Amino acid sequence: MNLLSDRILNMSTSATLAMAAKARELRGEGKDIIGLSLGEPDFNTPDFIKDAAIQAINDNYNSYSPVDGYVELKQAIITKFKRDNNLTYTLPQIVVSTGAKQCLANIAAVMLNKGDEVLLPCPYWVSYSDIVKLNDGVPVEVKTSIETDFKMTPEQLEAAITPNTKMMWFSSPCNPSGSVYSKDELRALADVLVKYPNIYVVSDEIYEHINYGKGHASMAEFDDMYDRTITVNGVSKAFAMTGWRIGFIGAPEKIARACNKMQGQTTSGANCIAQQAVITALNASPSKVKYMIDEFKIRRDLVLGLLGDIKGFNSNTPEGAFYVFPDISYYFGKTLRGKTINNATDFSLYLLEEALVATVTGDAFGNPNCIRISYAASQEQIIEAIKRVEEVVS
Ligand code: PMP
Ligand code: GLU
Repeated sequence: MNLLSDRILNMSTSATLAMAAKARELRGEGKDIIGLSLGEPDFNTPDFIKDAAIQAINDNYNSYSPVDGYVELKQAIITKFKRDNNLTYTLPQIVVSTGAKQCLANIAAVMLNKGDEVLLPCPYWVSYSDIVKLNDGVPVEVKTSIETDFKMTPEQLEAAITPNTKMMWFSSPCNPSGSVYSKDELRALADVLVKYPNIYVVSDEIYEHINYGKGHASMAEFDDMYDRTITVNGVSKAFAMTGWRIGFIGAPEKIARACNKMQGQTTSGANCIAQQAVITALNASPSKVKYMIDEFKIRRDLVLGLLGDIKGFNSNTPEGAFYVFPDISYYFGKTLRGKTINNATDFSLYLLEEALVATVTGDAFGNPNCIRISYAASQEQIIEAIKRVEEVVS
């Protein structure tokens, strides 16, 4: 009998977290690694949010919260959904979880049966496919290309649907491509989905506020999609709160209740201090964190400008999030400094070893021709990193 379950043996390690761990390890050996692998804002959590957490500790918030989150927090989430997204949810439709990642894991656990197919427009966020597989679902990759700004067309969506299609998961702004679906583009996808009333959508909007001007649209805004869309969001990105581990959903009541039941047997709910701090974060105007978005936009332009000068880096223009996802397949088959580059993983490892710059292979996101570069790093680090990259590829 094996010590470990087939379930865990068949699961891939999160490539983003693995690369971050590798970068940390190399730094520990004294190497001057510049980490552009992890999608984690390099800002501190704003003081007004930290103050709310300190207050919560002093007010003796130390007991289990309700499994699906404090009512006051769920109320703040309802207000946020109305204010920012024009979405109307009620208390039983909201579940607070330990990060958006747990929201996704809950959804898969409560909705998927063996063989249910989940459409994943590629590139998709690294954990989607393994969360689906862990729950006996079948990830179905829908390939997109740089020509459509890495966005899935209605025709591609329709062609991928089978009688086993249970759900479609996507993020907008997208991790890793930074692409943002406009309201019209979402409507065009919805026009296909309304023909298949059993298909549910997970709309991962965690990068909602990190948007460079195109405007954010939610799938649940459409009346004919509202009842079968689960809107996932959280505070990790826009509020620089990755380690606080708070995410939330707005969902049809039946699904929310199932997620609550799942948490009741797995985590007992999210951290109580963090929940209290998030009430303050969500009740604040999004303009309070705009200084971070403004800085990310400057960095996006910086990265695109610098990469544009390097042969073989072909990028779209990301409209949100904090990643660029260049196609680097130009280098496949070439030998650089005695090392042959056969694929994106080779290329990403080559950059780590030779340029001491950590990126993530596109394979992890369902696109083997690209690498992901996170620009959640200082302008100095970005300039130095891309200078090093240019040196080792030319
Ligand atoms: N969705 C996407 C698209 C992400 O990039 C992340 C980043 N970790 C998550 C979900 C999960 O976020 P968290 O668990 O930190 O809330
Ligand atoms: N979402 C981030 C990323 O894509 C954080 C890492 C993770 O949770 O996988 O890098």
